[in-house]
Amino acid sequence: MWDKTSIRVQHLKPSAIRKYFAVPSDVVTLGIGEPDFTSPDKLIAAAHESLKRGNTHYTANAGIFELRQAISDKLDELYGVKYDPESEIIVTVGASEALYLAAATILNPGDEMIVVTPCFVSYQAAVELADGIPVEVPCRLEDNFDLNVQAIEDAITPKTRGILLGFPNNPTGAVASREKLQQVADLAAKHDLAVISDEIYERLIYGVEHVNFASLNGARERTFIVGGFSKSYAMTGWRLGYVCGPKHLIPQLYKIHQYLIMSAPTIAQEIGIVAMRECEPDVERMRQEYDRRRRLIVDGLNSIGLYTFEPKGAFYAFPYIAETGLDSTTFADRLLEECKVAVIPGCGFGQCGEGHVRTSYAVKYENIEEALNRISDFVTKLKK
Ligand code: PLP
Repeated sequence: MWDKTSIRVQHLKPSAIRKYFAVPSDVVTLGIGEPDFTSPDKLIAAAHESLKRGNTHYTANAGIFELRQAISDKLDELYGVKYDPESEIIVTVGASEALYLAAATILNPGDEMIVVTPCFVSYQAAVELADGIPVEVPCRLEDNFDLNVQAIEDAITPKTRGILLGFPNNPTGAVASREKLQQVADLAAKHDLAVISDEIYERLIYGVEHVNFASLNGARERTFIVGGFSKSYAMTGWRLGYVCGPKHLIPQLYKIHQYLIMSAPTIAQEIGIVAMRECEPDVERMRQEYDRRRRLIVDGLNSIGLYTFEPKGAFYAFPYIAETGLDSTTFADRLLEECKVAVIPGCGFGQCGEGHVRTSYAVKYENIEEALNRISDFVTKLKK
């Protein structure tokens, strides 16, 4: 049997949270990280039309120009940041590919990347796949999960090449403040670091401002903005995202994308244009429903006695469960086993996620109500 696999893949740990996704039908799941909504009708109709027109071929490597133009227009309209659709935007297979392209472009083997945690499970893996070393820097509950700029500076070494951060945040729901983000931008300039800013949840915010990292003073020339369609437009299965960056760096990402992927799925790109140009009402409809569920879950968890920071973005709440005396894995395993509710152990999102579990409110309102009843019974039982 041939088994000489690379050290790179041997070292890569399988995602610790997958087992909480495939659960039996009697389980109420707060585990999933994707919208429960189907993509807007308009997009499905546009996909049919596009297929009927025979759009089954590759596109330009960087993506259909009209889509890049739509992305450029949207970023300008929302944040006043200007990216040239010709030379500064690549359409990717989800934000996932964009994260890897940026990491692989920045890192040499053994270089360090500061990864702000808790974070999406793929960040550390993207760095490792690019032969880099992820260095976790936590955001703390006592700071409302905002950036700890001093801790980031303390983690910088001669090997540090960049900072990878994602706000609105999965799993905490925190939205970083403009002030702290500017301080990170200043730090990156001072130490000559790149920044990868994953802004995939940018449109799912509740009563606060989302700050695009490239809009900060002095940040644009060293920043990669990672974005996508999965969350805002309920398009996870279409696999569509993008990366924007300065003219002098995008050709480097483009080389990897060109050889690895060729071009993102054509039909997804076609409907991405429609999403950006015509689906604002759908984005708002879904955002409002998430907001309603957000209030239910945060109030519910707090009244059960699991202290929950009020998330301002994305669709997750991250209750503190350490006072139950259980670690996050035991809490999630026992809750699943004994009360048939799926949540994700916080330790899956970086070491500092321990003591929390991630609950998603991208599930139906009634399911959240039922899950809260069951969690309440579980916590009451633990106290006895
Ligand atoms: N970034 C964050 C913070 C996410 O939570 C996810 C998916 O859960 C992704 C990126 C990946 O998104 P995509 O479906 O666009 O690959």
